[in-house]
Amino acid sequence: MSVDHRGFWFDQRGTGSGHFGGPSAIGCPSCGRPLLNIVTLSDPNALFCLGWKQSELRVLFCWRCRVSQGPFVYDQSEGSFQIVRHESGNMSDDFPYEAYPIEVPFLDFALKPLPKALAELQLDFNEDVEWPHYLTLFLETPRSQVLGRPFVYEGHVQACPVCEGPMNLTLTIDNDIGAGYIQTEDSSVVLVVWSCNNCSIVQVAQQCD
Ligand SMILES: [Zn+2]
Ligand SMILES: [Zn+2]
Repeated sequence: MSVDHRGFWFDQRGTGSGHFGGPSAIGCPSCGRPLLNIVTLSDPNALFCLGWKQSELRVLFCWRCRVSQGPFVYDQSEGSFQIVRHESGNMSDDFPYEAYPIEVPFLDFALKPLPKALAELQLDFNEDVEWPHYLTLFLETPRSQVLGRPFVYEGHVQACPVCEGPMNLTLTIDNDIGAGYIQTEDSSVVLVVWSCNNCSIVQVAQQCD
């Protein structure tokens, strides 16, 4: 397999690369409710591009307590799952909105390559980038994607809490998952996922425009 850093976007008309949602057997370390199974990425080519060594990359999060307010970090080594860092404390009952679903609906997706010019934009964390005009629509629309430049991001590289090395910006998950499920009522929110391949560490944090 050749190294391919172009990046991919999630096409929910297709199947075979992974899925959103489904039940989770892991309890939130803060509120005790099941963690939300946001994304399970299993596409071998995408995992290879990411340098991720496990057979799946799982994005877990809790929107219903203070876990949502800071980076949520866990060790996802094969066969084990350990939470490394999280915020704690409860939020009001109607956060992020009333009657919040207990789980994300199960939705398949296929990965499609990002437009080449978009995938090749440098991730410069210190400067605003002038978008090429024809990419503006693509860039200014939040979407779920692997690699590439996310819709919003904080301008600094995250350090792995275990080895202290720089982590990779791995996935961006759109607020609107599909099938009527939105993560919050703010359409500019995305979940940004960082990973350390050496430590099998995943960090999930929300960002908004
Ligand atoms: Zn929670
Ligand atoms: Zn590390």
